[in-house]
Amino acid sequence: MDASAGGGGNSLPTAGADGAKRRVCYFYDAEVGNYYYGQGHPMKPHRIRMTHALLAHYGLLDQMQVLKPHPARDRDLCRFHADDYVAFLRAVTPETQLDQIRSLRRFNVGEDCPVFDGLYAYCQTYAGASVGAAVKLNHGTHDIAINWSGGLHHAKKSEASGFCYVNDIVLAILELLKLHEVGNYYYGQGHPMKPHRIRMTHALLAHYGLLDQMQVLKPHPARDRDLCRFHADDYVAFLRSVTPETQQDQIRALKRFNVGEDCPVFDGLYSFCQTYAGGSVGGAVKLNHGHDIAINWAGGLHHAKKCEASGFCYVNDIVLAILELLKYHQRVLYVDIDIHHGDGVEEAFYTTDRVMTVSFHKFGDYFPGTGDIRDIGHSKGKYYSLNVPLDDGIDDESYQSLFKPIMGKVMEVFRPGAVVLQCGADSLSGDRLGCFNLSIRGHAECVRFMRSFNVPLLLLGGGGYTIRNVARCWCYETGVALGHELTDKMPPNEYFEYFGPDYTLHVAPSNMENKNTRQQLDDIRSRLLDNLSKLRHAPSVQFQERPPEAELPEQDEDQEDPDERHHADSDVEMDDVKPLDDSGRRSSIQNVRVKRESAETDAADQLLWLMCAQRCDGNRVAAEHTKGTEPVADGVGSSKQTVPTDASAMAIDEPGSLKVEPDNSNKLQDQPSVHQKP
Ligand SMILES: [Zn+2]
Ligand SMILES: [Zn+2]
Repeated sequence: MDASAGGGGNSLPTAGADGAKRRVCYFYDAEVGNYYYGQGHPMKPHRIRMTHALLAHYGLLDQMQVLKPHPARDRDLCRFHADDYVAFLRAVTPETQLDQIRSLRRFNVGEDCPVFDGLYAYCQTYAGASVGAAVKLNHGTHDIAINWSGGLHHAKKSEASGFCYVNDIVLAILELLKLHEVGNYYYGQGHPMKPHRIRMTHALLAHYGLLDQMQVLKPHPARDRDLCRFHADDYVAFLRSVTPETQQDQIRALKRFNVGEDCPVFDGLYSFCQTYAGGSVGGAVKLNHGHDIAINWAGGLHHAKKCEASGFCYVNDIVLAILELLKYHQRVLYVDIDIHHGDGVEEAFYTTDRVMTVSFHKFGDYFPGTGDIRDIGHSKGKYYSLNVPLDDGIDDESYQSLFKPIMGKVMEVFRPGAVVLQCGADSLSGDRLGCFNLSIRGHAECVRFMRSFNVPLLLLGGGGYTIRNVARCWCYETGVALGHELTDKMPPNEYFEYFGPDYTLHVAPSNMENKNTRQQLDDIRSRLLDNLSKLRHAPSVQFQERPPEAELPEQDEDQEDPDERHHADSDVEMDDVKPLDDSGRRSSIQNVRVKRESAETDAADQLLWLMCAQRCDGNRVAAEHTKGTEPVADGVGSSKQTVPTDASAMAIDEPGSLKVEPDNSNKLQDQPSVHQKP
């Protein structure tokens, strides 16, 4: 550390006054000093070059990452500025400006803000540097980012002012505000898991016009106590506290919780977990309250264990969502079409007959290594875990030759009250980490098939590492959920360049070899159907539609209804909240909550991505019922008044994974006071 560290104003930028290392990046484009506002004009970009020379000769450039900015593109500038103003800045030149007197006046260009050679490139450079600096801060790779060419604070939306043309500050702030969008979390350079794919998916949904056909909801972040319904307290506390800066002090905890390699510590890790888990649990709540289909493409992180991260997954939103569904449904079915085995979910419910897990995956010398066809569940859960081991290159036809007969039989004999479908897109042809050969239509056929049973359906994301195809797939599958066939020609959108050269929704599978022979597929199918026939006659199976009254625990009035925070998004659903004795006080607290949450929802640039589709074509869907499958009698509406509010108190015989003790009051400490019962 530099000797002057701690000495106040003299400390170098790499050492803060508190002695902590500061990671500084500095944006500089050598061209910027060449721009020239004109003779006699007081604004001289040359000063940036002079500054840079001083930095070099003081030896400061060696202590920072020096970066050449990417020029801001039209669409970047248009995030704040008006399209016609940006088009004008791009087109105007010193030679042609006299033909555009009216535009010059309108945009206040000409006097203080003259037209000069390279004006637009100058704007792109200084704005690109400020936005790039914000990106660096968002990614958490740097603590301080510098752009001495930026700071042009007078520019307005459609007007130049005070030597300023575009407002790089506003643009940088808009970028900083994206930090808590799910698409902005960043596992780190070179890491194949890119939450950005969720934002790309959302853009396609918007431009295909699908957002208008669903209720689009911003999820409530899952709270500590929500995560602790499955995860260990110390693991959750670790995820909450660890940061990229402090992780080196916690080597033992990193090892113990398997955090650091595949599952790196990155900026905002805990809020990322809260967000994607909150989306899946919120989706389950919506299904419990009568929606037909709920979608959370940010969820589906199926590898996370009770006290361990695994395979890019930190908390297991699927297990948490299933626990929520179990409050209302006696039996929940989990189906996993990610190329990897759904080990975290299988393990959590391995010994219960209330959750059946079915995973289709590549098996044999492949992560995570589990998912043998002989793993069928244990104890009461025997025959309630189904594993479908597949080999490289499986195509649509081979896949469906297993999926449909097996899932048809599962629906017939298990008769779930709700279905959770993990739609991991790494089973698509051409995935960066995968080795299957499914088309998007073949993948989506699984969604279409599960939807045809007309049972409440939670659609989740999962793996998927060729992100342009992930976005394509989940967009198409959202269309399937809504009952719409989308046009192959893709509408223009902000990520259009990802989808070239064809700009189509579908991509052709490859001609890779299908290593799954007809014989192998037939053997797998008959073995699994045989297991399912044993389940049908297994003595432990009781097809009761909901727990008998005697098993219902008393509602603990000292605990807040964990559903309740999810009710705040509509008055109608608020009515579902059971009245308490002190009803006057209660309702005033609810009012506070509603205001608080609607304010959050209105915040600028927030990405919404939990989607609930209310099915509007019930007749058609009912007609698609697979033969032999009886309609499920689970009347969600009629059971509302009698179901317990906390699955952890229900008689689920799975001590390994489910917490049975009530929440400790000390877990409430970091919750906002509006979430605590008076
Ligand atoms: Zn000034
Ligand atoms: Zn996967």
